[in-house]
Amino acid sequence: MITRFAPSPTGRLHLGHAFSALTVLQVARDMGGTALLRIEDTDSTRCRPEYEAAIQEDLRWLGLDWPNPVRRQSDHLAEYTAVLDAIAARGLLYPCSCSRSAIKAAGARPGWDGLVYPGTCRHRPLSDARPGDALRLDLARALDQAGPLPAFTEIGPLHAGRHTPDPDQLIGLIGDPVLRRRDSGDPAYHLACPVDDAAQGITHVVRGVDLWHATFLHVALQALMGWPVPVYHHHGLIHDASGKRLAKIDSATSLASLRAAGATPADIRARVGL
Ligand code: GLU
Repeated sequence: MITRFAPSPTGRLHLGHAFSALTVLQVARDMGGTALLRIEDTDSTRCRPEYEAAIQEDLRWLGLDWPNPVRRQSDHLAEYTAVLDAIAARGLLYPCSCSRSAIKAAGARPGWDGLVYPGTCRHRPLSDARPGDALRLDLARALDQAGPLPAFTEIGPLHAGRHTPDPDQLIGLIGDPVLRRRDSGDPAYHLACPVDDAAQGITHVVRGVDLWHATFLHVALQALMGWPVPVYHHHGLIHDASGKRLAKIDSATSLASLRAAGATPADIRARVGL
C-alpha cells in the first residue's frame, strides 16, 4: 500500500493541509503502508521555492516525516512531455487559444469544475499550434479509445463504495481538459497528477473531497493510458467559523501563524478533530 500527500507550494499550509497530511499518514499506518510526500509545483506562475521550504518546515514541526527523496514535479517535466506526445500521437490533443473571457463569451455552461469548455478550438489540428496555446484533450475521442471505463473503489467516509465514471457525464460536466497550460506551457494538474500516481506506484489516493469530481477524469485517463486505477479516499474539508472553506490567502489559519501564536502540534490535531 502506497499513498501520498501532494501539496502545491503556492502559499503557506493551513489547518486543512494539516488535516489532509495527518489523514494520509493515518490511512497508511492503519493499512501498514507507506506515505510519500510529493511537491506539485508544475504551475510555474504560482509555485515558489520558499513555499516548498515552508511546507517541509511546517510538516517537520507537526512531527510528520516522509521517505526521501521527495518527488518534485518540476524535476520530471520530460516525463509529462513524453505522455503528452503519446496522447498527441493518438490524435487526441488540440491547440486552444481561448482566454477565460472568450470561453465565457462563447456561452460555456457551468460544470463540476468551473465552466465546461464549449469546444471552440476542437477542429484545430496540432500542426496549427501557436506559441502560448494551451493543449486540450478531445475527451469524447479519448473516451472512445479508452473503451468501457473501469469502476474505482472509494473508501472515504463521504462516498464509500464502487463508482464507474459515465462518459456522457464526463463530457457534459468536465469537458475537454487542458493538459498543457496556456502561455507558460506548464503541464496541467490533470496530467501531472495521474502520471505521478502511476509512476510512483500509488495504490491509494487520499485527498480532499474538493477533488472528488477530478477523480472521474483521472480514472478515465488511467483507462486511456493503461495505468492501474488506485483505490481512492476523499476526506472532508476543514471550514472556518463562518463555514467557509479555508484558503491559502487567509493567513489566520496558516500553520506558521498558529505556531507563532503558541499553538503546539497537539493543538493543531485537536483543532482539526483528530
Ligand atoms: N496539489 C493538490 C492540492 O494541493 C492536491 C492534489 C492531489 O492530492 O491529487 O490541492
